[in-house]
Amino acid sequence: ARRFPGTLAAGAAQANARQVAMSMPPYDDRDGYIWQDGDLVPWRDATCHVLTHGLHYASCVFEGERLYHGHIFKRDEHHQRLLDSARILGFEVPYSVAELNEAANAVARANGIANGYVRPVAWRGSEQMGISAQRNRIHVAIAAWTWGDYFGSDGRLQGIRMRTADWKRPSPETAPAKSKAAGLYMICVLSKHQAEAEGYKDALMLDYRGRIAEATGANIFLVRNGELHTPEPDCFLDGITRRTVMALARERGYTVRERAVMPEELADTDEVFITGTAAEVTPVASIDRHEFTVGAVTRELMGAFEDLVNNPASWDQAPA
Ligand code: PMP
Repeated sequence: ARRFPGTLAAGAAQANARQVAMSMPPYDDRDGYIWQDGDLVPWRDATCHVLTHGLHYASCVFEGERLYHGHIFKRDEHHQRLLDSARILGFEVPYSVAELNEAANAVARANGIANGYVRPVAWRGSEQMGISAQRNRIHVAIAAWTWGDYFGSDGRLQGIRMRTADWKRPSPETAPAKSKAAGLYMICVLSKHQAEAEGYKDALMLDYRGRIAEATGANIFLVRNGELHTPEPDCFLDGITRRTVMALARERGYTVRERAVMPEELADTDEVFITGTAAEVTPVASIDRHEFTVGAVTRELMGAFEDLVNNPASWDQAPA
């Protein structure tokens, strides 16, 4: 084999990858089934070609869903958002919400997963490989796997430490902010890696105006004098968990204010938590030099959310 400069670094990376693989198999090398373009296929066969528009130009949208006791929480909302995300990028997912519901359920069943994560993804294929991809076939896949607390049980109990990212959420005139588009996650990965490199669990991203926006995969709430404050979602996802938690809080008599939230306000904020499908409701112990308590409001809403998701019979959702 030819040897390139950088072989050593590549060797170290491979050793690292092996080490990771020993504790957890990589996602492309597992047993089970993935739904791809209409069929359940063996997990390792659910592939796409290297010349795929979605891979080169991020013409790709996805969802993240959680299964609780065999039921996908807010299933219709997630699948509708997938269709909407694609439409914002200019393509149509060739399946209906009902078809995606059925496919996601089939994947969960085929893999024997009752509690875990579901990942639908839709992307432009390989018919054209320039910027233009008007004729490309749209592909869709859905995978599912078991997944516990996104930040581990420590994160849930003690709260996570965060730092403000150097990267900003772009203006809605710069990026399709309402689409859960793969391309937008470039900024999240950069921010998350920067935070992790310095020992933090996650990053707080400000927006292009310097306002508080969100975490790298979750929305954010501040508790100030017993009221909830959360940034208006005008340049990032209005998360499904965010809306759920706002409703739970209002039902419990809390005032919830959606408004421009500035980073200076962290100095006199009592509690902070983040919400997302993966993160669920996770308390935040600190952001940069500001420290918060895992207080009564956060605990109450964590409990309310847990009660809701763990009781599928109470959901306002038709059984699939
Ligand atoms: N913001 C970002 C960047 C996310 O990735 C997510 C997770 N989808 C959220 C917010 C929260 O959205 P949801 O509650 O719908 O999962």
